[in-house]
Amino acid sequence: MQVVSTRGAGPVPLADAIAKGQAPDGGLFMPPLAARQAEPWGETLRARATSALEPFFAGDKLYDALPEIIADSFTFDAPTRWIEPDTALLELFWGPTAAFKDFGARFLANCLVRLREPNREQTVLVATSGDTGAAVAAAFHRRPGFRVAVLYPDGRVSPRQAHQLGAFGDNVTAYRVAGSFDDCQAMVKAAFADDALSEEHGLVSANSISLGRLLPQMSYYVHASLTAVAAGRGAANFVVPTGNLGNALACLLAREAGLPIGDVVLATNSNRVLPDFLSTGRYEPTTSLATLANAMDVGAPSNLERLRDRFSTPAEVVRADWVDDDDIRATIRRTYAQTDEVVCPHTACGLAVRERLRDAGDEQAWIVAATAHPAKFAEVVEPLVGAPTAIPPALAALLARPSHAWPLAPSTDALRIALRQA
Ligand SMILES: *Cc1c(COP(=O)(O)O)cnc(C)c1O
Repeated sequence: MQVVSTRGAGPVPLADAIAKGQAPDGGLFMPPLAARQAEPWGETLRARATSALEPFFAGDKLYDALPEIIADSFTFDAPTRWIEPDTALLELFWGPTAAFKDFGARFLANCLVRLREPNREQTVLVATSGDTGAAVAAAFHRRPGFRVAVLYPDGRVSPRQAHQLGAFGDNVTAYRVAGSFDDCQAMVKAAFADDALSEEHGLVSANSISLGRLLPQMSYYVHASLTAVAAGRGAANFVVPTGNLGNALACLLAREAGLPIGDVVLATNSNRVLPDFLSTGRYEPTTSLATLANAMDVGAPSNLERLRDRFSTPAEVVRADWVDDDDIRATIRRTYAQTDEVVCPHTACGLAVRERLRDAGDEQAWIVAATAHPAKFAEVVEPLVGAPTAIPPALAALLARPSHAWPLAPSTDALRIALRQA
């Protein structure tokens, strides 16, 4: 299929949009309206992902490789686990870096590997507030022809996130920037805007606006909703912990494609731009606040432009609520006391919103997207539950490796020099 930018550029083939990341007019490439799928959808995550994504890739040069791309990317499952009769966690953290971003990052990498021009080195340049960088690094680790440069704000990611980012080595270089995430993002943007630098290093973007990350995230909503229906539970309602709105948008796209999905509610942390926008209709981006759910510390959600482009009245298709740090702590404690489940601070935002729905008289069952494994945020979670969190094997393997990150000043010149030295 051909895709068009939210600001009008295009149409371009989907594979080109995936290779480019951002549209040339500064907008975001929109996924086309997918034809509603006929049955059968298959049974497994991979089969269902293939059924869901095939219409988007129809006629594309990646079409024939799609089943293989999915098989190479989704080497782990996304189970739905009911922790109460009417509340489930959709566990999205069984990938190599223990957060949902593994789904999108691996799919994108497997597309870019197949799209790469032979004999041309490419550098994947990415700014991260914690989880994106590790997922992208893991996805491109030891891939011939690619190197990865990850920028993260020094001291503002969790200790395990920091260790993870520096633990890859080989073709991955981690930089700890003396600044904020916004500084990191500004440096990356400036690098991409510099044509000479871009050309010199074959810069490739892997940030969350890439369609190569957005589309595959539909897969686990497809899988979870069909699994809920097969279990006789009816259409699935989702609460999605939200920052840049990529994960939740994928859920809305799955519903649009005809999947049995009912209500969708966004849960943000104290960065309440989205709930405020949906209740007032006014969009007021700000600089982000630091919270316990650091991967959702976003003051200007990048995918909002897509939401507004697709749905003329966003408040009619999605609701949102926000959760402060005190409520995150209380929810982690309460969830552990009531269900024995240890959840990460992002998932706790989702569970807090789910609880408020119940308090407001809602009697539906809800599936909360569990976006990261709690072991990634042990320093927050363990004191609250008073017990150590079990570390999933993939994360344990990374944490057992030595870790190194280069210090970097928050300037584009510093980045330019660093890229030449790496
Ligand atoms: C990135 C991230 C989020 C936010 O996802 P968006 O797609 O940016 O809305 C939530 N939780 C975790 C653990 C994340 O890493």
